Amino acid sequence: MSSPDKKIARCVSCEGFGWFEDESSGGSEDCDWCAGAGYVYRDGGGRDSPIPPADYTAVAAELERLELERLREMGYQGGARKPWQQAIRKDTKLGRNPYQDEGKS
Ligand SMILES: [Zn+2]
Repeated sequence: MSSPDKKIARCVSCEGFGWFEDESSGGSEDCDWCAGAGYVYRDGGGRDSPIPPADYTAVAAELERLELERLREMGYQGGARKPWQQAIRKDTKLGRNPYQDEGKS
């Protein structure tokens, strides 16, 4: 599934947020580059690809570490939160736990 030369990197497009605010509508939309995850796989050649939702569970610990790092950069004090636990994302698609959708279609 994961190759040695593939690592997780912060999405360069949305800077880890996973979404953009749409100023014209006042809403938000998921980042296309990372499929809303905020992070992408970067291979040895520097190419980014979205992390497949099926991989989220496997990379959850790494994502949490990166998210904590990002929050600290922003001056956030405290523990890391999952995207769906962040109040700022409450009204976005990430405001709910994606894991709840597992096994459903
Ligand atoms: Zn992104």
